[in-house]
Amino acid sequence: MSVASLVTRFAPSPTGLLHLGHAHAALFAWHAARIGGGRFLLRIEDIDRQRCQPAFERRLLEDLAWLGLEWEQPVRRQSEHFDDYRAALARLRARGVLYPCRCSRKDIAAAGHAPHPGEDGVGDGPIYPGTCRPTRRSFDPAADLPTVDRGEPLALRLDVARALEQTGPLVWHDRAAGPQRAAPERLGDVVLARKDTPTSYHLSVTVDDALQGVTLVTRGADLFHATHIHRLLQALLDLPTPGYHHHPLLTDAGGRRLAKRDGAQAIGALRAAGYTPEMVRNAAGFVD
Ligand code: GLU
Repeated sequence: MSVASLVTRFAPSPTGLLHLGHAHAALFAWHAARIGGGRFLLRIEDIDRQRCQPAFERRLLEDLAWLGLEWEQPVRRQSEHFDDYRAALARLRARGVLYPCRCSRKDIAAAGHAPHPGEDGVGDGPIYPGTCRPTRRSFDPAADLPTVDRGEPLALRLDVARALEQTGPLVWHDRAAGPQRAAPERLGDVVLARKDTPTSYHLSVTVDDALQGVTLVTRGADLFHATHIHRLLQALLDLPTPGYHHHPLLTDAGGRRLAKRDGAQAIGALRAAGYTPEMVRNAAGFVD
Protein backbone atom coordinates (compact mmCIF):
# COMPACT_ATOMS: atom_id res chain seq x y z
CA MET A 1 0.00 0.00 0.00
CA SER A 2 1.58 3.31 -0.94
CA VAL A 3 1.45 5.89 1.81
CA ALA A 4 -0.23 8.44 -0.44
CA SER A 5 -3.22 6.15 -0.90
CA LEU A 6 -3.87 5.58 2.81
CA VAL A 7 -7.56 6.08 3.60
CA THR A 8 -9.04 5.43 7.06
CA ARG A 9 -12.52 5.91 8.42
CA PHE A 10 -14.58 6.16 11.59
CA ALA A 11 -17.99 4.54 11.18
CA PRO A 12 -20.26 5.18 14.17
CA SER A 13 -23.91 4.20 14.49
CA PRO A 14 -26.04 7.10 15.81
CA THR A 15 -27.86 5.04 18.42
CA GLY A 16 -26.71 7.02 21.44
CA LEU A 17 -24.32 9.68 22.64
CA LEU A 18 -20.65 9.51 21.75
CA HIS A 19 -18.53 8.44 24.72
CA LEU A 20 -14.82 8.19 25.42
CA GLY A 21 -14.63 4.77 23.76
CA HIS A 22 -15.92 6.24 20.51
CA ALA A 23 -13.55 9.17 20.86
CA HIS A 24 -10.71 6.65 21.14
CA ALA A 25 -11.83 4.81 17.99
CA ALA A 26 -12.32 8.05 16.05
CA LEU A 27 -8.95 9.45 17.11
CA PHE A 28 -7.26 6.14 16.32
CA ALA A 29 -8.46 6.27 12.70
CA TRP A 30 -7.80 9.99 12.43
CA HIS A 31 -4.22 9.68 13.76
CA ALA A 32 -3.48 6.72 11.50
CA ALA A 33 -4.45 8.84 8.51
CA ARG A 34 -2.51 11.86 9.74
CA ILE A 35 0.65 9.96 10.56
CA GLY A 36 0.54 8.20 7.19
CA GLY A 37 -0.23 11.37 5.24
CA GLY A 38 -3.55 9.85 4.23
CA ARG A 39 -7.23 10.76 4.19
CA PHE A 40 -9.80 10.35 6.98
CA LEU A 41 -13.47 9.67 6.27
CA LEU A 42 -16.53 9.62 8.48
CA ARG A 43 -19.40 7.27 7.73
CA ILE A 44 -22.75 7.18 9.47
CA GLU A 45 -23.93 3.58 9.90
CA ASP A 46 -27.65 4.09 10.26
CA ILE A 47 -29.24 1.07 8.54
CA ASP A 48 -31.18 0.27 11.71
CA ARG A 49 -33.92 2.84 11.21
CA GLN A 50 -35.45 2.05 14.58
CA ARG A 51 -32.44 2.53 16.79
CA CYS A 52 -30.69 5.32 14.88
CA GLN A 53 -31.85 8.89 15.42
CA PRO A 54 -31.03 12.12 13.54
CA ALA A 55 -30.61 13.87 16.89
CA PHE A 56 -27.81 11.45 17.83
CA GLU A 57 -26.19 11.99 14.45
CA ARG A 58 -26.24 15.78 14.94
CA ARG A 59 -24.71 15.39 18.39
CA LEU A 60 -21.99 13.06 17.20
CA LEU A 61 -20.96 15.41 14.39
CA GLU A 62 -20.82 18.25 16.91
CA ASP A 63 -18.80 16.22 19.40
CA LEU A 64 -16.28 15.06 16.80
CA ALA A 65 -15.80 18.61 15.50
CA TRP A 66 -15.42 19.88 19.08
CA LEU A 67 -12.74 17.24 19.65
CA GLY A 68 -10.81 18.77 16.76
CA LEU A 69 -11.37 16.12 14.11
CA GLU A 70 -11.82 17.04 10.47
CA TRP A 71 -13.19 14.75 7.80
CA GLU A 72 -13.94 14.84 4.13
CA GLN A 73 -17.32 15.82 2.71
CA PRO A 74 -19.76 14.50 1.81
CA VAL A 75 -20.26 12.15 4.73
CA ARG A 76 -21.62 8.80 3.56
CA ARG A 77 -24.87 7.95 5.30
CA GLN A 78 -25.74 4.28 4.83
CA SER A 79 -29.49 4.84 4.89
CA GLU A 80 -29.09 6.77 1.62
CA HIS A 81 -27.44 3.85 -0.18
CA PHE A 82 -29.72 0.86 0.19
CA ASP A 83 -29.51 0.36 -3.60
CA ASP A 84 -25.79 -0.38 -3.36
CA TYR A 85 -26.46 -3.08 -0.77
CA ARG A 86 -29.35 -4.52 -2.79
CA ALA A 87 -27.04 -4.80 -5.80
CA ALA A 88 -24.42 -6.63 -3.72
CA LEU A 89 -27.08 -8.94 -2.32
CA ALA A 90 -28.27 -9.73 -5.85
CA ARG A 91 -24.71 -10.69 -6.84
CA LEU A 92 -24.44 -13.01 -3.88
CA ARG A 93 -27.79 -14.58 -4.69
CA ALA A 94 -26.65 -15.13 -8.27
CA ARG A 95 -23.64 -17.02 -6.89
CA GLY A 96 -26.00 -19.33 -5.02
CA VAL A 97 -24.55 -18.64 -1.58
CA LEU A 98 -27.67 -17.23 0.11
CA TYR A 99 -30.70 -18.95 1.54
CA PRO A 100 -33.88 -17.72 3.20
CA CYS A 101 -34.28 -18.38 6.89
CA ARG A 102 -37.51 -18.23 8.86
CA CYS A 103 -36.08 -19.08 12.27
CA SER A 104 -36.87 -16.69 15.09
CA ARG A 105 -34.25 -15.75 17.68
CA LYS A 106 -36.08 -18.08 20.04
CA ASP A 107 -35.78 -21.02 17.63
CA ILE A 108 -32.05 -20.41 17.32
CA ALA A 109 -31.52 -20.04 21.07
CA ALA A 110 -33.51 -23.26 21.60
CA ALA A 111 -31.09 -25.11 19.29
CA GLY A 112 -28.55 -24.39 22.02
CA HIS A 113 -25.49 -23.47 19.99
CA ALA A 114 -22.56 -21.72 21.58
CA PRO A 115 -22.28 -17.97 21.13
CA HIS A 116 -19.71 -16.51 18.80
CA PRO A 117 -16.13 -16.65 19.98
CA GLY A 118 -15.39 -13.37 21.67
CA GLU A 119 -18.00 -10.68 21.60
CA ASP A 120 -18.34 -9.51 18.05
CA GLY A 121 -20.51 -6.57 18.99
CA VAL A 122 -22.82 -6.84 16.01
CA GLY A 123 -25.78 -8.46 17.69
CA ASP A 124 -25.79 -11.73 15.81
CA GLY A 125 -26.10 -13.87 18.92
CA PRO A 126 -25.36 -17.59 18.83
CA ILE A 127 -23.93 -19.39 15.82
CA TYR A 128 -26.80 -20.32 13.56
CA PRO A 129 -27.41 -24.10 13.67
CA GLY A 130 -28.21 -24.27 9.94
CA THR A 131 -31.85 -25.33 10.27
CA CYS A 132 -32.95 -23.58 7.05
CA ARG A 133 -29.74 -24.26 5.06
CA PRO A 134 -31.31 -27.08 3.00
CA THR A 135 -33.65 -24.50 1.44
CA ARG A 136 -30.69 -23.09 -0.51
CA ARG A 137 -31.08 -25.77 -3.17
CA SER A 138 -34.63 -24.73 -3.98
CA PHE A 139 -33.94 -20.99 -3.62
CA ASP A 140 -34.24 -19.47 -7.07
CA PRO A 141 -31.45 -16.91 -7.35
CA ALA A 142 -33.37 -15.12 -10.10
CA ALA A 143 -36.61 -14.70 -8.15
CA ASP A 144 -37.49 -11.17 -7.08
CA LEU A 145 -36.73 -10.46 -3.46
CA PRO A 146 -40.36 -9.53 -2.70
CA THR A 147 -41.46 -13.09 -3.48
CA VAL A 148 -39.42 -14.34 -0.57
CA ASP A 149 -40.35 -11.31 1.44
CA ARG A 150 -43.79 -12.45 2.49
CA GLY A 151 -44.25 -14.58 5.50
CA GLU A 152 -42.95 -14.58 9.04
CA PRO A 153 -39.53 -13.45 10.19
CA LEU A 154 -37.46 -13.75 7.08
CA ALA A 155 -33.76 -13.27 6.69
CA LEU A 156 -31.25 -14.09 4.01
CA ARG A 157 -28.25 -15.97 5.35
CA LEU A 158 -24.84 -16.62 3.86
CA ASP A 159 -24.04 -20.30 3.35
CA VAL A 160 -20.46 -20.00 4.58
CA ALA A 161 -19.35 -23.53 3.70
CA ARG A 162 -20.65 -23.22 0.15
CA ALA A 163 -19.11 -19.76 -0.20
CA LEU A 164 -15.72 -21.08 0.94
CA GLU A 165 -15.94 -23.86 -1.64
CA GLN A 166 -16.17 -21.13 -4.27
CA THR A 167 -13.44 -18.86 -2.95
CA GLY A 168 -10.93 -21.33 -1.56
CA PRO A 169 -8.77 -20.36 1.45
CA LEU A 170 -8.49 -16.64 2.17
CA VAL A 171 -6.15 -14.50 4.22
CA TRP A 172 -6.16 -11.00 5.65
CA HIS A 173 -3.72 -8.94 7.65
CA ASP A 174 -4.10 -7.17 10.95
CA ARG A 175 -1.45 -4.59 11.83
CA ALA A 176 -1.46 -5.69 15.48
CA ALA A 177 -2.23 -9.42 15.28
CA GLY A 178 -0.39 -10.19 12.03
CA PRO A 179 -1.46 -12.45 9.15
CA GLN A 180 -4.80 -14.22 9.55
CA ARG A 181 -6.32 -17.18 7.78
CA ALA A 182 -9.94 -16.20 7.23
CA ALA A 183 -12.16 -18.39 9.38
CA PRO A 184 -15.70 -17.16 8.68
CA GLU A 185 -17.10 -20.48 9.90
CA ARG A 186 -16.42 -19.16 13.40
CA LEU A 187 -19.37 -16.84 12.95
CA GLY A 188 -21.43 -19.32 10.99
CA ASP A 189 -24.15 -18.52 8.46
CA VAL A 190 -24.63 -14.85 9.34
CA VAL A 191 -27.69 -12.85 8.32
CA LEU A 192 -26.96 -10.57 5.35
CA ALA A 193 -30.43 -9.03 4.98
CA ARG A 194 -33.77 -9.03 6.72
CA LYS A 195 -37.30 -8.62 5.51
CA ASP A 196 -37.47 -5.03 6.70
CA THR A 197 -33.80 -4.09 6.06
CA PRO A 198 -32.29 -5.14 2.73
CA THR A 199 -28.81 -5.27 4.24
CA SER A 200 -26.89 -5.95 7.44
CA TYR A 201 -23.85 -4.65 9.28
CA HIS A 202 -21.59 -7.20 7.54
CA LEU A 203 -22.80 -6.47 4.03
CA SER A 204 -22.98 -2.69 4.20
CA VAL A 205 -19.63 -2.23 5.93
CA THR A 206 -17.87 -4.46 3.36
CA VAL A 207 -19.51 -2.73 0.39
CA ASP A 208 -18.88 0.76 1.77
CA ASP A 209 -15.24 0.25 2.69
CA ALA A 210 -14.66 -0.80 -0.93
CA LEU A 211 -16.81 1.93 -2.51
CA GLN A 212 -15.13 4.59 -0.40
CA GLY A 213 -11.64 3.31 -1.18
CA VAL A 214 -10.77 2.64 2.46
CA THR A 215 -7.32 1.05 2.60
CA LEU A 216 -6.95 0.66 6.38
CA VAL A 217 -9.92 -0.35 8.52
CA THR A 218 -9.29 0.54 12.15
CA ARG A 219 -11.86 -0.51 14.72
CA GLY A 220 -12.26 -2.07 18.13
CA ALA A 221 -11.06 -5.60 18.84
CA ASP A 222 -14.70 -6.54 19.52
CA LEU A 223 -15.14 -6.61 15.72
CA PHE A 224 -12.07 -8.77 15.02
CA HIS A 225 -14.15 -11.89 14.27
CA ALA A 226 -16.49 -9.97 11.97
CA THR A 227 -13.51 -9.38 9.66
CA HIS A 228 -13.43 -13.10 8.78
CA ILE A 229 -16.89 -12.70 7.25
CA HIS A 230 -15.98 -9.40 5.57
CA ARG A 231 -12.98 -11.06 3.92
CA LEU A 232 -15.23 -13.78 2.53
CA LEU A 233 -17.72 -11.20 1.23
CA GLN A 234 -14.89 -9.30 -0.47
CA ALA A 235 -13.85 -12.46 -2.30
CA LEU A 236 -17.43 -13.25 -3.35
CA LEU A 237 -18.07 -9.70 -4.54
CA ASP A 238 -14.65 -9.16 -6.18
CA LEU A 239 -13.84 -6.28 -3.84
CA PRO A 240 -10.35 -5.26 -2.72
CA THR A 241 -9.17 -6.25 0.78
CA PRO A 242 -8.01 -3.36 2.94
CA GLY A 243 -5.48 -3.67 5.75
CA TYR A 244 -6.91 -3.95 9.26
CA HIS A 245 -5.93 -2.70 12.68
CA HIS A 246 -8.18 -3.87 15.50
CA HIS A 247 -7.34 -1.91 18.62
CA PRO A 248 -8.10 -2.73 22.28
CA LEU A 249 -11.27 -1.18 23.62
CA LEU A 250 -11.06 1.58 26.18
CA THR A 251 -12.19 0.33 29.58
CA ASP A 252 -13.21 2.05 32.81
CA ALA A 253 -11.20 1.93 36.03
CA GLY A 254 -12.81 -1.44 36.83
CA GLY A 255 -11.69 -2.91 33.49
CA ARG A 256 -15.21 -2.86 32.01
CA ARG A 257 -15.69 -1.78 28.44
CA LEU A 258 -17.39 1.60 28.09
CA ALA A 259 -20.92 1.54 26.74
CA LYS A 260 -23.40 4.13 25.54
CA ARG A 261 -25.36 3.66 28.75
CA ASP A 262 -22.42 5.10 30.76
CA GLY A 263 -23.72 8.62 30.40
CA ALA A 264 -20.99 10.12 32.57
CA GLN A 265 -18.42 9.22 29.92
CA ALA A 266 -20.37 10.99 27.17
CA ILE A 267 -18.30 13.61 25.39
CA GLY A 268 -21.08 16.16 25.87
CA ALA A 269 -21.14 15.52 29.62
CA LEU A 270 -17.37 15.91 29.90
CA ARG A 271 -17.59 19.11 27.90
CA ALA A 272 -20.35 20.43 30.19
CA ALA A 273 -18.18 19.52 33.20
CA GLY A 274 -15.47 21.86 31.92
CA TYR A 275 -13.14 19.46 30.10
CA THR A 276 -11.31 20.98 27.14
CA PRO A 277 -10.99 19.07 23.83
CA GLU A 278 -7.34 18.43 24.69
CA MET A 279 -8.28 16.92 28.05
CA VAL A 280 -10.83 14.65 26.42
CA ARG A 281 -8.35 13.61 23.72
CA ASN A 282 -5.90 12.73 26.49
CA ALA A 283 -8.56 10.83 28.44
CA ALA A 284 -9.31 8.90 25.24
CA GLY A 285 -5.67 7.84 25.14
CA PHE A 286 -4.18 10.38 22.74
CA VAL A 287 -1.52 12.79 23.88
CA ASP A 288 -1.21 15.78 21.58
N1 GLU B 1 -20.82 0.92 13.09
C1 GLU B 1 -20.04 0.06 13.93
C2 GLU B 1 -20.19 0.48 15.37
O1 GLU B 1 -20.77 1.47 15.68
C3 GLU B 1 -18.57 0.07 13.57
C4 GLU B 1 -18.33 -0.51 12.25
C5 GLU B 1 -16.89 -0.69 11.84
O2 GLU B 1 -16.01 0.07 12.26
O3 GLU B 1 -16.64 -1.58 11.05
O4 GLU B 1 -19.73 -0.21 16.24
